[in-house]
Amino acid sequence: MIISQNGLKPTPDTFIVAENGLLEQCGGHGVFWAGRAATLLYASYLLAKQKQSGEAPAEVIVPAVMCATAANTALMAGLTPRFADINSDGVITLETIRARKTPQTVAVVVIHLLGNVVELDEIAAWCREQDIMLIEDPTQAVGGHYKNGNHVGSMGDLALYSFNRTKILDVGNGALVTKSVDITEQLCAIIDSIGALSCDQRLHQRLSLSYRNLHHAFVDLLRLNSTDPQLISDTFMRIRHLYMPLYLRPTVEDVDLNSAWTNLDDRLAHRLHLAQLYADALHTSPYWTLLTGFENSGVCWRFSLLLHNSEQQVAFSEAVRQDGFHVSNLYWAVNDFFYPSDQCPQAASFARRIVNLWVDHSVDSAYVRACCESLLKHQILLQDAREPS
Ligand SMILES: *Cc1c(COP(=O)(O)O)cnc(C)c1O
Repeated sequence: MIISQNGLKPTPDTFIVAENGLLEQCGGHGVFWAGRAATLLYASYLLAKQKQSGEAPAEVIVPAVMCATAANTALMAGLTPRFADINSDGVITLETIRARKTPQTVAVVVIHLLGNVVELDEIAAWCREQDIMLIEDPTQAVGGHYKNGNHVGSMGDLALYSFNRTKILDVGNGALVTKSVDITEQLCAIIDSIGALSCDQRLHQRLSLSYRNLHHAFVDLLRLNSTDPQLISDTFMRIRHLYMPLYLRPTVEDVDLNSAWTNLDDRLAHRLHLAQLYADALHTSPYWTLLTGFENSGVCWRFSLLLHNSEQQVAFSEAVRQDGFHVSNLYWAVNDFFYPSDQCPQAASFARRIVNLWVDHSVDSAYVRACCESLLKHQILLQDAREPS
């Protein structure tokens, strides 16, 4: 089914191949589509909120390293986001999730960040035991595998995908895969209760540009170390409601998801090939550690370095950018914005050291080789290497 401007409608023919592919990978019962994954996450949170007992606000545990969407939509749905710290691969663990569990916890969101897959057996068993909804987000690892060979997306109560710009499949829209008749039916009722969705493109474009600029401005202040995260958080929390229209978007129907899905294997092979080129060229440097989760999962979203010297992250990235290569270090520990007292020291350190490189269809082997030369040329900037803190 798709969420249209005026409620649910049957899935169009141009989505069916993708829908069946998702159902097969996830062992799913049904699929909901919307313009953004964020819209579907919001609906999932409303469903999880029905587990709330008592007066205290229900809580959802999310990773400290991610884009802020999962926290913004939680607040929209009336859930308090709580932040779990990450391990050296950038993903949450059963231990860090348990550290945030309270009697109010109703859901956990697990993100397979950058293609680094979270092994979910223990986490899923714990969630079942605690009656907590497990929402799995394989957007950055679509088509990938756990160590046991099963597809990602098959372990959660729900699996959430974005196929919007910059994602592995980037033709537009998001999908939510349910695993049972019950959940499908409950979600239908919830989505009916949300009512009509706006599709004011101009407003969305302007608001998302503003959000992006705001995020960068706050991150740059936080990088100074002298800025109190509580001050940033208080300021952000006072104005975050202005951005809420960004998150609820109807399905864009004239999109060929079938062809995109049919090309998934080729896309993944291209990404893996380029990731391996980076790994081969860059593994000898003493100034960084490579994230190599793609070797297990079979998916790379961005190829990532973790610098040992966090002081030079911005200068180093800028030097490589000046040579003409895409570099991002966008991830910040989002607990700083939403809940600074959920301290996540590993996430804070990771965010100050990560450097992401491109492996998508806009780049090729020659680009990657040239990019590696640039990285190795500028590694001298990092030589004042301190121990990672
Ligand atoms: C981009 C992204 C989202 C949000 O997707 P939208 O379609 O933009 O709402 C959610 N989860 C992950 C892991 C993402 O990378």
